[in-house]
Amino acid sequence: MIWNELPKSFTELEPYELSDFFEPLTLCRVEGEKDEWVFLSVMLHGNEPSGLRVAQEILKKYNGKPPRGLILLIGNVVAAKNGSRRLDDQPDYNRIWLGGEGFEFDRAQDVLNELKKIHFFAGVDIHNNTGKNPPYGCINRLDKKLAQLAKRFSKNCVYFINPMEVLSHRLAAMMTGMTIECGLPNDKEQEKNAFRFVDQLLHLDRLAEVTPRADEINIYHSYTKLLIPDACTVSFTGDTSTDFSFFPHFDELNFQSVKVGESIGLVNNEKAKIIVLDEKGEDRSSEYFTYEEGVIRFKKSCVPSMFTKDVRVIHQDCLGYLMEELSVELLK
Ligand SMILES: [Zn+2]
Repeated sequence: MIWNELPKSFTELEPYELSDFFEPLTLCRVEGEKDEWVFLSVMLHGNEPSGLRVAQEILKKYNGKPPRGLILLIGNVVAAKNGSRRLDDQPDYNRIWLGGEGFEFDRAQDVLNELKKIHFFAGVDIHNNTGKNPPYGCINRLDKKLAQLAKRFSKNCVYFINPMEVLSHRLAAMMTGMTIECGLPNDKEQEKNAFRFVDQLLHLDRLAEVTPRADEINIYHSYTKLLIPDACTVSFTGDTSTDFSFFPHFDELNFQSVKVGESIGLVNNEKAKIIVLDEKGEDRSSEYFTYEEGVIRFKKSCVPSMFTKDVRVIHQDCLGYLMEELSVELLK
């Protein structure tokens, strides 16, 4: 089930060409010198090319023979062919890792069964965002070693429990594994940062198992998701004919602390309210925003993340998340 060879042209392939060579969710092995392996997952979402670019640059740098062996998971090659996150008739490839019925779910279980047989130094699932965000890591356990891994990628680290169906949850259970978010697709600076991070993992002898200092890492707990009611329209250009009219700098709030009373836009329809759901799916809307005279203001201080201005994403997925900062003392 694991390929022992990559196509000769692999380092030059564009995302849309992957399906000429790979089935969806294909594992490939690239031999290295050290005993432990590094796991890299790329393109679980077909419109997020940074992971593929990083893997290609690593293979080019080491001429196909990295210091530590790589196990590469190549994700949704079918969606990559037309540059979309997923096709309408496919599940989201980062929501198939906790079981379910169908081709992708079966394949995900096969991948996990293979990974269980291998001894990993670390594992990284590489993604891009749909909004303007600084680079950040995501961890699913409050674990010192995982935080040591995360801080090598970025000072910003997000801890979340839901959704449980993501790959990084399964990785965290079997290795020091996490997700990295490399900004918008094709952000070359962020791709370079991700490359430097992965390159380190190929060389490092070990990861420290001590708690990082508070000035080395910001750990945020992502605990609420913001939704826009399906029937409501949204704009970011000052257009007052839409139900919600958010400010143009909306996505620049990501990873910035917002204070009580700070505004993010206007509502032009009395019934338009942002829906705030907590990790248990409970409605907490009235605790977070006020709408006096049509101005949307924060009722609590918090840190936004993944705020996006992509209207399609807002309706398909969400408007963004709110986070609170956690003390490093919580790391076990
Ligand atoms: Zn993604």
